[in-house]
Amino acid sequence: MTHDVDVIVAGGGPVGLAAAIEARLAGLAVAVVEPRSAGIDKACGEGLMPGALPRLARLGVDPEGMPLRGVRYVSGDRRAEHRFASGEGRGVRRTVLHAALAERAASAGVEFVSGRVDAITQDGAGVTAGGLRAGWLLGCDGLHSAVRREIGVELQTPRRGRRFGLRQHFRVAPWTDLIEVHWSPGVEAYVTPVAPDTVGIALLGRQGIDFAAELAAIPALAHLLESEPASSLRGAGALRQRASRRRVGRVLLVGDASGYVDAITGEGLRLGFAQAEAAVATITGGGDYERAWRGITRDFRALTSGLVAAASSPARGAIVPLAQGLPRVYGAVVERLAR
Ligand SMILES: Cc1cc2nc3c(=O)[nH]c(=O)nc-3n(C[C@H](O)[C@H](O)[C@H](O)COP(=O)(O)OP(=O)(O)OC[C@H]3O[C@@H](n4cnc5c(N)ncnc54)[C@H](O)[C@@H]3O)c2cc1C
Repeated sequence: MTHDVDVIVAGGGPVGLAAAIEARLAGLAVAVVEPRSAGIDKACGEGLMPGALPRLARLGVDPEGMPLRGVRYVSGDRRAEHRFASGEGRGVRRTVLHAALAERAASAGVEFVSGRVDAITQDGAGVTAGGLRAGWLLGCDGLHSAVRREIGVELQTPRRGRRFGLRQHFRVAPWTDLIEVHWSPGVEAYVTPVAPDTVGIALLGRQGIDFAAELAAIPALAHLLESEPASSLRGAGALRQRASRRRVGRVLLVGDASGYVDAITGEGLRLGFAQAEAAVATITGGGDYERAWRGITRDFRALTSGLVAAASSPARGAIVPLAQGLPRVYGAVVERLAR
């Protein structure tokens, strides 16, 4: 059976589009299968860590946004602050990031197919999915991946203590060039400047968070409720999705589909872009994707799991005072995640 393309990418989110561009740069014919149309939005903190920007630049993508120069933790009058030594990050609206990646993918010759991948067959020579036949399939279809389910990868995800995210934008001038994280008893509230007149607020916490009530309970952010909302409220989760493996035959899982811990460390996109590069290297060079994936995500899995455990324990209230009291440790952790 002949192939329509070399690679099918299931999911045209940021990681799917990055993987498709990577594959085109490697000389492969690629089709992205995605059910949603232009300007795709998602609940996200929208902070691109410093390490994400060179990865995007390599792909020829330079989205507009606001500079992010570090991370500040705030709890009442306690604060810990670290400015990135490793360069700037950027706050970028998801719709802007999507448009920049989609435009670059189109100019690189990526084919777009409107649809959903929900049935997959594979044999030694290729994969059939989304009405196409290809040598490989990259499952980039997010936290609740249908590709992951179809290829029988098990999730090792506890039902207790599940965490979710909510986000909304407000029409106010950013008051900081840092990613601010406000720790309240119930949530962590991430403030990310994304445009000269817009900040995004992402709340992380238990299922059923009341966005307005939680924001009202944080004195430094309550004033936002009086400003004009610049987007509708969106949610995502459960965040922790621990997959047992990332490759079955000619199908590789990439981005959130490959497993996720939590957004508490502002991570996801940088890792997904690195995974996209490793997946295409495996396709073209026969490398070991599982091993590369473990290397890429090692710090994220360890540090993020540790911080979520502390945030969910009686020690929660000690996190910001500890970060304030141990600035070198706090700075080293931020630098590690910023790479
Ligand atoms: C509240 C919150 C805050 C966050 N903050 C940050 C942050 O500040 N910085 C950061 O780097 N990361 C952050 N993240 C993580 C980041 O949002 C994700 O890691 C990132 O979106 C992963 O991209 P993706 O392309 O893998 O998945 P997604 O962005 O989820 O894209 C998946 C795509 O697949 C499509 N799709 C779904 N099912 C199918 C199917 N069956 N067939 C075909 N297509 C399908 C969807 O329509 C979607 O377009 C945050 C996450 C949350 C929830």
